Amino acid sequence: MTQFVDVAVVGGGLTGLTAAALAARRGLSCVVLERSAEAGGRARSQHEAGAVLNLGPHALYLEGPAHRVLRSLGLPLKGRSPQSSGLAWNAGTLHHLPAGPVTLAVTCLLTAREKLETAKWLTRIQRFDASALAHVSLAQWLDGLALQPGTRALVELLVRVSSYAHAPHLISAQAALTQMQRGLKPGVRYLDGGWQTLVDGVRRAALESGAKLRVGWRAQSIRESEHGVWRVCSHHGEVVEAGQVIIASSPGEAVNLLEGAARHELETATADRVAVQAACLNLALTKGTRWRSTLALGLDEPLYLSLHSASAHLSDGAVDVVHVAQYLAPGESGAGARQRFDALLDAVAQGWRSRVVAERFMPNLTVAHALPLASRGGLAGRPGPALKSARGLFIAGDWVGSDGLLLDGCLASAAAAVELLVKGTHISYEKVA
Ligand SMILES: Cc1cc2nc3c(=O)[nH]c(=O)nc-3n(C[C@H](O)[C@H](O)[C@H](O)COP(=O)(O)OP(=O)(O)OC[C@H]3O[C@@H](n4cnc5c(N)ncnc54)[C@H](O)[C@@H]3O)c2cc1C
Repeated sequence: MTQFVDVAVVGGGLTGLTAAALAARRGLSCVVLERSAEAGGRARSQHEAGAVLNLGPHALYLEGPAHRVLRSLGLPLKGRSPQSSGLAWNAGTLHHLPAGPVTLAVTCLLTAREKLETAKWLTRIQRFDASALAHVSLAQWLDGLALQPGTRALVELLVRVSSYAHAPHLISAQAALTQMQRGLKPGVRYLDGGWQTLVDGVRRAALESGAKLRVGWRAQSIRESEHGVWRVCSHHGEVVEAGQVIIASSPGEAVNLLEGAARHELETATADRVAVQAACLNLALTKGTRWRSTLALGLDEPLYLSLHSASAHLSDGAVDVVHVAQYLAPGESGAGARQRFDALLDAVAQGWRSRVVAERFMPNLTVAHALPLASRGGLAGRPGPALKSARGLFIAGDWVGSDGLLLDGCLASAAAAVELLVKGTHISYEKVA
C-alpha cells in the first residue's frame, strides 16, 4: 500500500517528532516513520522501582533553541535547576568545587595563584565573544592563554559538563566556549517526570496538529521517482510517497538510506565525524543515603555525579535518582568506568550500596553523533539542513546545522528544515500526482 503526504519524517526521536509537529502546524500533511515500537529515541525514560530514569543524565539548556521550540509547542517544561555548588573529585579526594567567590576562597583544589586566575577568568568568560575561534581547537586556544594547570583543568571540566565533549584537541573553541557560557548562564533544568515528558509532549503536539506516527516502520531506502516525488520504502516493502523528506536518524543511517549524488554529498560531509560518547550508570536508591553533596565533578578524571531527584520530581518521594557518567575520549571504551563510578559513589554517598533498588550500567552511549570539529570550522562546518544535491531532502539532528549542541542542535535543525521546506522548495503532492 502506498501513502501520500507532503512531508515524510524518517526517525521518531525528539528531532523527528518536533519537525512533524512544526510542519503539521504549518498545514502540511505529515507522517513520522519510526523503526522502534515506541517513539522517543534517546530521550525516552524508563520507569523502574518507582523511579523515572533517563538514558543517562539529561538536562535542558534554558533559553536556547530547544527551550524556545518546546515552549512554542506548549510544553510546560516543569522542573528545577540543579545547584551549581558541589564537590570536585581530584586524585581520589573530594574538594569544594569553585562555583563562586566563597567556594573559590575555601577550596583546597587550587593554589592561591590559580584561584586568582580562575576568579578573573570566570568573570571574563561570561562576556567573551568566541565567534572568531571556530577554526581553533579548545586545546590550541588554552595553550595560547598559558593558564596555570589547575585553572586549565577547571576550564576543561566546565566544557565537559556542558557539552559532554572530552576532546579538547578536536572540538572547536567557539562551540565549546559558547556551550559553556550557556551552561553557566542561564543554566539548565532537570525535568519533573524526566525527558519522557518531552517525548510525550512533542508527540501529542504533532498528533494534535494532524501528523501521523507509524511505529515499527523501518525506512530502508529513499529514492526520487520520475515525477520528482520522494519514495520512502520500508523493510516490509511498504511505500510512503512525499513531496519532501526530513531524515532525523543518525548520519550513518541517513547515508545508507540514500543513493546517487545525495548519498555522496552526505557521505563526504560526515566522513570525518567524531561521535561524542559517554559511559553512564543510572541508580535508584531507597532514601537514607547520606550525601556529602548533590553534585560531584571529576577534575583529573572526566567524571560526573548528580543527584537528579534533589532538583526534579522523579519518583513518589521514596527513592533517590542519581546519574553517574564518564565522558569518553574519542575511541575510548567505557568498559572500565564502573569501578571509577563505585569509587566516586563511595566517597560522595555514604551507605548507597545497600539501598540500590534499580541500576543500569551503559558503557558506551552515543550522546551526539558529531563533535563540532575545529578542522571543519566548528558549528558552521556541520552539514544541512538542506541537501544541496537533492531538492526536497532535508536532514536534522545533533549533527546538523550551525546552531547549538545536543538537543539545541536537534531542534534548531528541525525548525530550520521545516522553515526551508515551507518557504522555499515545497512541492505539494497534489501538484505532482
Ligand atoms: C547519555 C546521554 C546524555 C544526554 N544528555 C543531554 C543533555 O543533558 N542535554 C541535551 O540537550 N541533550 C542530551 N543528550 C542528547 C539528547 O538525548 C539527544 O540529542 C536527542 O534525544 C536526540 O534526538 P534525535 O531525535 O535527534 O535522535 P534519536 O533520539 O537517536 O532518534 C532517532 C530515531 O530515529 C529512529 N530511526 C533511525 N533509523 C531509522 C530508520 N531507518 N527508519 C525509521 N526510524 C529510524 C531511531 O529508532 C530513533 O528513534 C544526551 C544523550 C545521551 C545518550
